[in-house]
Amino acid sequence: MCGCRYGKVNGLTVMASTNHRKRARSYQRAHGVSYTVALRAVTAGDGWSNGITPWLRQSQKPFNCYWCGSVEAILSWGDIGEDTERIEFYCQNPDCNAREVDVLVVDDGTDTTRRRADAKALQRFPGEVLADPVLINDDEQLGWMVRTSPLPSARTSGQVQCLFCGKQTCDVDPAGDSDIGRLTLYCRNPRCAADTAIALVGRDGTPATQNREDVTALREIDNPPPPPSADGAPRIRPVGHRTDGVLDRRRG
Ligand SMILES: [Zn+2]
Ligand SMILES: [Zn+2]
Repeated sequence: MCGCRYGKVNGLTVMASTNHRKRARSYQRAHGVSYTVALRAVTAGDGWSNGITPWLRQSQKPFNCYWCGSVEAILSWGDIGEDTERIEFYCQNPDCNAREVDVLVVDDGTDTTRRRADAKALQRFPGEVLADPVLINDDEQLGWMVRTSPLPSARTSGQVQCLFCGKQTCDVDPAGDSDIGRLTLYCRNPRCAADTAIALVGRDGTPATQNREDVTALREIDNPPPPPSADGAPRIRPVGHRTDGVLDRRRG
């Protein structure tokens, strides 16, 4: 007797050993998720689930930038290594305007993710019409990459790579075409729990991006503005990038 039992996880039949079942039960208790989600988490080999280090952070490999499409996107220096549900990438293509991009899982079947302050902020500010960068900069730039369409490449390239499981299994939500700075991704890998993730350009050198409500909300969770002083003196931000307590503030 090996103690194995077959179970269905997201339509996929997996063999759950006694050990897997035990680990799934403790995962379930720790994360408050269903048994199915927990089993998927502990059996994820080529997948991802809450609390597991995302593929990009492990592989450190360049991948196709969702915006310009060239294989020049890498893990950003601003990425916070302990945050397993959010990752930041940087596009090295000098012709691509997408510099820093946050990719957040907003639905993986866990309450932990649903309660996150940053995930809730993105739902509160559902995106906006961002003008073509050519109009913003009023120079020869044509879109995300010089001489290409202003539409992110991911909107026309078919399925894109999931940065959490590493598979080429993400569909891009066809809605929101007019918002060229934000994409909603659905990972279809049955072993990956990144059911819905949002990719948002946080910096592309234009004030229009920097002042977006969703970008501002994420920035202020990471780096909250100091409270106004009683005598009405201007609020002075501490210099530098604050990293203390960021994870707690993101998780809400
Ligand atoms: Zn790019
Ligand atoms: Zn995935």
